[in-house]
Amino acid sequence: MHPLVRGFLDLLYPPRCEACGRLGAAPICAECRSEIEFVEPPVCRVCGEPFDPLAKAAPTCPRCRSGRRPFARARAAAYYTGPLVQAVYRFKYHGQMVLGAPLGGLMCEALERGLAAELEVENVDVVCPVPLHPSRLRERGFNQSALLAEEVAEAVARPVKRLLDRVRPTLPQVELPPASRRANVRDAFAPRLQEEIAGQRVLLIDDLFTTGATLVECARVLRRAEAAEVRLFTLARPLPQWRRPGADLRAAAANQ
Ligand SMILES: [Zn+2]
Ligand SMILES: [Zn+2]
Repeated sequence: MHPLVRGFLDLLYPPRCEACGRLGAAPICAECRSEIEFVEPPVCRVCGEPFDPLAKAAPTCPRCRSGRRPFARARAAAYYTGPLVQAVYRFKYHGQMVLGAPLGGLMCEALERGLAAELEVENVDVVCPVPLHPSRLRERGFNQSALLAEEVAEAVARPVKRLLDRVRPTLPQVELPPASRRANVRDAFAPRLQEEIAGQRVLLIDDLFTTGATLVECARVLRRAEAAEVRLFTLARPLPQWRRPGADLRAAAANQ
């Protein structure tokens, strides 16, 4: 963009932090950036669920011990709390594509801080975003997961491939109670290029891992299409129960 045009646009729409709204520091200011909390171990070796470091935990959570998961590993870069909530909201629902690079950059930083080893990214052949339904894509103008996938793919030096289609529109998962989310995404995805999926080790990318229903369904579809392995990597996941405000008080009350 011509510097004069840029300058004019800056006058009209002064650059501001997308998380806190402060003028001058776009798209995420240093203060908000410093408040973003990376997920640190201990976590479940398979699904990445964060364990209370004060509790003595097994290497895997009860859920992963009790059943086979359609994915080999799942990890999230940061907790969905603080400035990240507003940044993700602006990214997804206000068309702030400019946030793709810094939010994808957080995922790359998390890889450097240890997730590359935990996710075993050397065992990945291809990076794939969770797709949007074409109607949602038209409405939003871009697929936020695809923008994150671009950043991650560059960091792990693997190609991005759209291996899945969303063949059925679904309700936004955030609008549904956890129990209904699995049914909402059932049969919502289809393999796009079966011959490109077979035998591949896929790193599947999305913005949020909440109940994991969407990602797990995508992983199932990929495995049914003969993907060798699927790993899940998301920008964020919610704080675990034991970290939520009042958890200490509830635990203390329960122990009385
Ligand atoms: Zn800020
Ligand atoms: Zn687990």
